[in-house]
Amino acid sequence: MVTEIAAEMHGAQHRGTVASYIPPLASVPADKFGLAVVMADGTVHTSGDAEEAFSIQSVSKVFALTLALGAVGDQLWSRVGREPSGSAFNSIVQLETEQGIPRNPFINAGAIVVCDVLLGRLQPREAIAQMLRFVRELAGDDTIRIDETVAQAEQDTGFRNMALANYMRAFGNIHGDVGMVLGTYFHFCALAMSCRQLALAGRFLMDGGRSEGHRIITESRARRINALMMSCGHYDNSGDFAFRIGLPGKSGVGGGILAVAPGIASIAVWSPGLNEEGNSHLGQLALERLVQRTGWSVFEPR
Ligand code: GLN
Repeated sequence: MVTEIAAEMHGAQHRGTVASYIPPLASVPADKFGLAVVMADGTVHTSGDAEEAFSIQSVSKVFALTLALGAVGDQLWSRVGREPSGSAFNSIVQLETEQGIPRNPFINAGAIVVCDVLLGRLQPREAIAQMLRFVRELAGDDTIRIDETVAQAEQDTGFRNMALANYMRAFGNIHGDVGMVLGTYFHFCALAMSCRQLALAGRFLMDGGRSEGHRIITESRARRINALMMSCGHYDNSGDFAFRIGLPGKSGVGGGILAVAPGIASIAVWSPGLNEEGNSHLGQLALERLVQRTGWSVFEPR
C-alpha cells in the first residue's frame, strides 16, 4: 500500500509551493516524495525517496518539547500554552494580548520558549548535542546530522523569529540571551533526517512512551504530546488535518510530517511543496489516503 500511495503521489498534478525563504530549502526539487511506515511490531515499509535526508524544520519541535518536559516537567506550562493558535506558525499577534505566553509549543514562539527552557540548564552547544543524541538514539541511527548550511541560512534571515524572541523577552518570558536561544532553535530546525529515520524516531509516541521496549517518557506524557500534535501540529490548518486524517501529526516547512497512529504505526512522509499554511500538500494527501485505506484514524471505532 505504501508503494501504491507513492506511485499515486508521483503522478500528482498539484504539488504545492516549495519554501523559498532560504536557498537550501528553495533548491529542493518539488517532485521528491518519500513515505515510511514503522509498524508496532517493528516492520518498516518505505517507498519513494524515503531514505533521503531532508530538513525536518518544525517537526523538531516535538523532540524539543519532549526534552524540555524531561528537564522541567509540568512547570513548562507556566510559560507556554496548550491551545491551538488559529494563526500562522510565525505569528506575533497573540503574544501582545497574552502577555508573551505563546499559545502552544508547536508554533515558532512556543518552540523558542522551549529552547530557552532547555538553556536554563545547558549551554547552546550542549543542548544541540543533547538533541542530536536524542534523535539518534530514538532512530537507532548515528548518521543523523544537523545541516549547518540550513542553520546558518535560518540565522541570516530569521528576523521574524528574532522579533518573536525579543518581544517575549520584553514580557519576561525569555530568560536567556536571545541570540543563544535562537541559535539553538535554528540548529534544531536544521536537523536533517530521512522519512525512515523520522518514523523510527517517532516510535515512542506510537508505543505509549516506549521505543523498542525502552522507556523514553511516561505513558501519560506520550498521550499528552500526541494530543498537542493533534490539536496544534499543523498551525491554522490543524483542525482540517484532524478532520481529514485524524492522527496526531507535526509538520515542518521542509515538507516533512511525522504522524502517529497510537498502538499501530509511526509514519513519516516528505514532499517539499507546501499548502498556504506551510504544511506539505502531498504529505497530507498521502496520509489521508493511507488512513482511508487502513482505518488508522484515532476516531475509528476499535
Ligand atoms: N525554520 C522555520 C522558521 O523558524 C521553521 C518553521 C516551520 O517549519 N514551520 O520559520
